[in-house]
Amino acid sequence: MTPPKTRTTPRLRVVPASPAELSGQPIQRPTGLVEEVYTRVRAEIMSLAIPPDTRVTIEGLARRLGVSQTPVREALSMLEAKGLVTKQQFIGYCTAPILNRTQFEDIHEIRLLIEPHAARQAAQKMTGEQIGGLHRLVERMRPGRDGQTRSSYDLFAEQDSELHERIAMATGNMLIVESLARMHIHLHIFRLCFRSKIASDAHDEHAGLLAAIAARDGAAAEAAMRTHIVNSHQRFVQFAQP
Ligand SMILES: [Zn+2]
Repeated sequence: MTPPKTRTTPRLRVVPASPAELSGQPIQRPTGLVEEVYTRVRAEIMSLAIPPDTRVTIEGLARRLGVSQTPVREALSMLEAKGLVTKQQFIGYCTAPILNRTQFEDIHEIRLLIEPHAARQAAQKMTGEQIGGLHRLVERMRPGRDGQTRSSYDLFAEQDSELHERIAMATGNMLIVESLARMHIHLHIFRLCFRSKIASDAHDEHAGLLAAIAARDGAAAEAAMRTHIVNSHQRFVQFAQP
């Protein structure tokens, strides 16, 4: 005979009020607003809605986005830190100009020095969990059958940056992570200007790179990253203007 079930009285769950609720909520808004402006302007730059090398004014943005100048000013500082806009004396903010051939080649050279090394480190140091995260990211980047739309390439470009950043993080060297992040942003704007059917090639290369990292094969990971960077250079070098 099964013992009778004891009926437990449901306990009252006391949900503590968040600090924002306690103070009548106004505090979150300014931060949220800066983030919102930042995300919006960043998206406009990354999608070329605001083209490279174009002046952006605080007044103009504030008016267009219907916000005050303060969050716009803060958002532009954040974008400046990411290298997406530059502040010039007497002119104000401009979006970064598109890479010329020399800058493009310079970035390629540095990537070849740093990223294969990072891939080797990733194969040796990444945790299983981190590799699992990379797998999910690479899967999300698999191109759709319906061919590429502009927005899917934009998304691919962002995720590609994230993938390379996560591998760079495996070095534990923040200088490497930060310098790569900066370079990648410029490369992405460049790529967006000349996007073509490249995501599927890049996807296969990423998958090969990840397989080497997951197999803990440092030499193979280093070689795969080198191949990926060289191929990526090949895909775009034709567009770089002297
Ligand atoms: Zn890539």
